[in-house]
Amino acid sequence: MQGLMMNAPLNISALIRHADRFHGDTEIVTRLVEGGIHRYTYSDAHRRSRQLANALASLGVKSTDRIGTLAWNTHRHFEIYFAMSGIGAVCHTINPRLFPEQITYIVNHADDSYVFFDLTFLPLVEKLAPHCRGVKGWVAMTDKAHMPESSLDLLCYEQLVNGHSDHMEWPEIDEGAASSLCYTSGTTGNPKGVLYSHRSTLLHAFGACLPDALGLSARDVVLPVVPMFHVNAWGLPYSAPLVGAKLVFPGAQLDGASLMELFESEKVTLSAGVPTIWLGLLNHVKSQGVRFGTLKRTVIGGSACPPAMIRTFEDDYGVQVLHAWGMTEMSPLGTVNTFKSRHLDWPEAERQALQNKQGRVIFGVDMKIVDDEGLELPRDGQAYGDLMVRGPWICREYFKGEGGDPLRDGWFPTGDVATLDQDGFMQITDRSKDVIKSGGEWISSIDLENTAVAHPDVHEAAVIGVAHPKWDERPLLIVVREPGATVTREALLAFFEGRVAKWWIPDDVVFVDALPHTATGKLLKTKLREDFGRHKLPGT
Ligand code: AMP
Repeated sequence: MQGLMMNAPLNISALIRHADRFHGDTEIVTRLVEGGIHRYTYSDAHRRSRQLANALASLGVKSTDRIGTLAWNTHRHFEIYFAMSGIGAVCHTINPRLFPEQITYIVNHADDSYVFFDLTFLPLVEKLAPHCRGVKGWVAMTDKAHMPESSLDLLCYEQLVNGHSDHMEWPEIDEGAASSLCYTSGTTGNPKGVLYSHRSTLLHAFGACLPDALGLSARDVVLPVVPMFHVNAWGLPYSAPLVGAKLVFPGAQLDGASLMELFESEKVTLSAGVPTIWLGLLNHVKSQGVRFGTLKRTVIGGSACPPAMIRTFEDDYGVQVLHAWGMTEMSPLGTVNTFKSRHLDWPEAERQALQNKQGRVIFGVDMKIVDDEGLELPRDGQAYGDLMVRGPWICREYFKGEGGDPLRDGWFPTGDVATLDQDGFMQITDRSKDVIKSGGEWISSIDLENTAVAHPDVHEAAVIGVAHPKWDERPLLIVVREPGATVTREALLAFFEGRVAKWWIPDDVVFVDALPHTATGKLLKTKLREDFGRHKLPGT
C-alpha cells in the first residue's frame, strides 16, 4: 500500500522559490570582483535566476547539458547555481587553482558547452580556450562597462540576464536527475567528477541545517569563505535559502583584513572555511588588536583544524568552532563536532580533547571503521581502521564511470583512517596514504602536526614518513616559522616530550619558507615526499 502524501520531487528550484516567497526581503551582499559592494534580496536573486534561465534557453542550453563556472563567491555565481540546475542543466564548478592542464582536462571531460568566468580568470580562460573545442561560448561575469578586451569573442553576463524576461516557471525535474558536478582534487591521477542530484543536494541542505550540524536559521548572517568551487561551498548556498539566512559573499578578496571588514559591516554570525584561511584572519585580528562584534560560530574543515586554532577562537574571541569533516564525494558533510548534554559537565581538558575530534556523525550518513579484511572494528574510540560511509548524499559512482566501481559492499571507502565511538564521534588519525608506519605500528601525522603548531613560534607544520633502515619509516617534521621567530630543532623536538608518546617524536626537523598546498588548501604531501622523502635522518 502506498502512502497518500503528495509526490513533490525534491528540486533545487524549490529552495530559491521558498526564499523569494517567505524571505523575499532578506539580503544577499557581495564584494564585487570589479570593486565595490553589491546588495540585493532573495526576491531579486530569484528574478534574475529566472532571467538567466531564459537566457540559457536562448543560447540553446538543454537539460543535462553541463556548464562550467570559474568563479568566486558572488551573487552572480549564486544566480548561476539556481538558473542552471533549475532548468535541469548541470552546474559544473571548476577550481581555478588547479593547473591549466587539469582544468582543460576537466572542461573537456565534462563536455562543458559554456563556461562562465570572473574577470580575474580572463588570462586563464584565454589560455584554456584553444584546447577546449567543445565550449561554444565564454561568458564574462560582469556588466558592459567592465567588459575586457580579449582575443576571444566573449559574452557579457549582465547583457545576457538583462536581455531576457523573468517570465518562466521552473520545470518539475526528476529528483534523481543530475544538478551539479564537482571534480575531486586528487593528488594523483586525473580528477574524477562527483555528480550530485537534486535529491542529494536537498537532503544534504536539510541535514546541514540541523541544530547539531551547522544549526543555520533565519537569524543567521552567513559568510561562506569556502569557495563555491569547492564542493558547492559545503552546501551553504543551498542551506541559506532553505532557512532564509542572509548571505554575504566575499568575492575575490579572502585576506584577513577584507574578511574582517565584511564580518563587521554585515554583522556576520556564521562563517566557514579551511584552516589556512583562518590562519590569515587570526593573524590580522591579533596584529590589529580588533575583536569580532557578531561572529558566533565558524565551521572549520577540509583538513584537520589544529587544536590551538580552536582554543584561540573560543578562549580569546568567544567564537564557537564547529570542527567538521567531509569530502567532495559526500556533498561534503559527514560529521560536525557538537556536544551531547552529558559532555557539558565533563572537565575542561576532556571536553577540549573531544572537541579536537572531527565530530559526530549526522543523520543521513552511516559510518563504520574496518580492518584490512573489511571486518568492522569496535566503536570504542580506540581502535582505528579504514573509514567507510554510505547514505543518500554520498557518491556511488564517478562521472562517466571513471575509476570503476568505488564501493565495497555498498560502502564508500573514504581513504581516511579513523576511530569511532558509541556516540558517533569520529577522529581522523590520517589519510591512509599519509600514515607513518614505524616498526609495524602507526604514527598519526595529523597528531604530530597539531602538536607542532601549538608551539608559538610555528606558523605551519607538516609531517611525513621518511625511510629508516631499522624502523621502516620515521617521522620528519617540516616547519614554517612565524615571521622573525628563531626556534631551533632541539627546542621544537623537546616541545613534543610529554605531549605525544616518546616513540612518536619526529627524528628530525627541516625549516622551510613555505609549504606546498593543493588547490583546495590541503598540505600537498606528495610534493613533500618528493622533496624530503630521501632526507637523511640523524644516526642513519
Ligand atoms: P576534499 O574532497 O577535497 O574535500 O577532501 C576530502 C578529504 O579531506 C577527507 O577525506 C579528509 O582526508 C580531509 N579532511 C576534510 N575535513 C577534514 C578534517 N576536519 N580533518 C582532517 N581531514 C579532513
